[in-house]
Amino acid sequence: MWAKINFIRQGLFVPPFLPGKRLHSQILSHSNSLSHRHFHKHLADTEKNKMKYVLVTGGVVSGLGKGVTASSIGVVLKACGLRVTSIKIDPYLNTDAGTMSPFEHGEVFVLDDGGEVDLDLGNYERFLDVRLTRDNNITTGKIYQSVLEKERKGDYLGKTVQVVPHITDAIKDWIESVSAIPVDGKEGPADVCVIELGGTVGDIESMPFIEALRQLYFSTGPDNFCLIHVSLVPVLGVVGEQKTKPTQHSVRELRALGLTPHFLACRSAQPLLENTKQKLSQFCHVPAANILNIHDVPNIWHVPLLLRNQNAHEAILKQLALLCVARPPNLEEWTTRAETFDNLTNSVKIAMVGKYVGLTDSYLSVVKALLHASIACSLKPSIEWIAASDLEDESAESAPEAHTKAWETLRNSACVLVPGGFGDRGVKGMILAAKYARENKVPYLGICLGMQISVIEISRSIVGWKEANSTEFDEQTSNPVVIFMPEGSRTHMGNTMRLGSRRTLLQSSDCITAKLYHNPEYVDERHRHRYEVNPEVVGDLEKTGLKFVGKDESGQRMEILELPSHPFYVGVQFHPEYKSRPGKPSALFLGLILAATGQLEAYIKTHQNGSI
Ligand code: GLN
Repeated sequence: MWAKINFIRQGLFVPPFLPGKRLHSQILSHSNSLSHRHFHKHLADTEKNKMKYVLVTGGVVSGLGKGVTASSIGVVLKACGLRVTSIKIDPYLNTDAGTMSPFEHGEVFVLDDGGEVDLDLGNYERFLDVRLTRDNNITTGKIYQSVLEKERKGDYLGKTVQVVPHITDAIKDWIESVSAIPVDGKEGPADVCVIELGGTVGDIESMPFIEALRQLYFSTGPDNFCLIHVSLVPVLGVVGEQKTKPTQHSVRELRALGLTPHFLACRSAQPLLENTKQKLSQFCHVPAANILNIHDVPNIWHVPLLLRNQNAHEAILKQLALLCVARPPNLEEWTTRAETFDNLTNSVKIAMVGKYVGLTDSYLSVVKALLHASIACSLKPSIEWIAASDLEDESAESAPEAHTKAWETLRNSACVLVPGGFGDRGVKGMILAAKYARENKVPYLGICLGMQISVIEISRSIVGWKEANSTEFDEQTSNPVVIFMPEGSRTHMGNTMRLGSRRTLLQSSDCITAKLYHNPEYVDERHRHRYEVNPEVVGDLEKTGLKFVGKDESGQRMEILELPSHPFYVGVQFHPEYKSRPGKPSALFLGLILAATGQLEAYIKTHQNGSI
């Protein structure tokens, strides 16, 4: 079950694929459509800038792919010419995802403003091509923190502070103000805000959110609110029937809390049968036309197409009284991408040497960035997960089979990627992988920890500092080549992470990174780290031939390293994966795949004039 329900989030592909209706079969035609230029003015005039909300809730089980469903709804609405923003509600008590283990919760996604948020926000950014803020991720922790701060300041004027109305009011205020923040680079608020409520309806911790959303629905009015409930329609046995009971129960639960869904988005392995739809409609009080079906598809880019093919956009726009101002959805790019990917036959083997390889969600953005880059090279990424500790000499004795297999996998891969990470587990194995890539001229990309690993490896193997280490792993090392370098206070450990977008100045145009980014003066990428290359050892390191080709504005922080004698050996202190988008792959991931397949030189030659 776990593998199945996680398929959408991980972008894994679940056979068999049963095609839905033909693409392009349903195109909206609005005789009374306004031209898109007049659209926003029209909206502003008629609706007094009232935000339209699409709330996505989930029932039956978690991990149904609610995030992908919600972002796909956003994609379809955007394709109709609307400006879309999104909010993810996580009802857990953590203030943000920064302290949560990737083992348990998947990767921590990092935003431009330094917000450490749930990985679903990454999905929204990638699908909608927007830049969200930390406030677009609401947690119970954040809401209580804001209410308790106000309580301490005496803002409640002696009143008893309660879940209703104070917590619920804080949730409503938060949603109303955050939905107005533009996230698509344009001015003014978006037209539609997609709100995803994490967890499953009926969870104790999501109750205040449900109540606040019920009130929001009531105050914004039916034309401005659309509730889509994502549910599971399982099949029992090999040729069993599609079961509607779990959905019926979860809709009943939702209705008991005062919310009636306008739409059901039913997840199923195979397309829903007509009589299943009729049953759901009758028992769940939802018109049959509003029962959407998201059955298993070969890749997640099919999901917006699936929704469009069922005319979901038309029905949602109707619910939101936007039908007269939207245009027929243009999903050409999505169609091409989804279909191209299905037809790719060649693949590229990427050795991913990390600590959290058991749960691939731990590196979700890296996986997506590899996907974007591989597709740009007409290849499928074949990620070979290697637990770094299996490469270590010690494991030759304790787990000889795993050790042999790890090395075999590494040697059979076309390139090596060491992603970010914290703590010393597997560090020795990562150092061995970096050494292997350097010595054998195998393309290498080291991200954050992966760059620090390169510095330690080169310091030990070439400079000859046998004890070289990061003070994160050995505080007493006689050769601290990677050190704690906070931007703020050195005495306070809290809040010392360097987080969010920071500028890297490229030191010369004569390096692979500059060429891959098409020769800008600087790049702005997202960071999440505490430790950095010790500026005092830069001179010694550069004597080995290593070059720091990107530095921060002070020149003190090393951001990018390269080995000019190697076909592709790049380490970056930042995380380029967070800004990779389908159709706009991150430059360095693209470089890695190009180098792995012997196409880098030709690519650089064709693009050296800055054209893309
Ligand atoms: N642990 C390292 C640091 O804090 C690397 C962090 C990372 O890879 N994101 O600097």
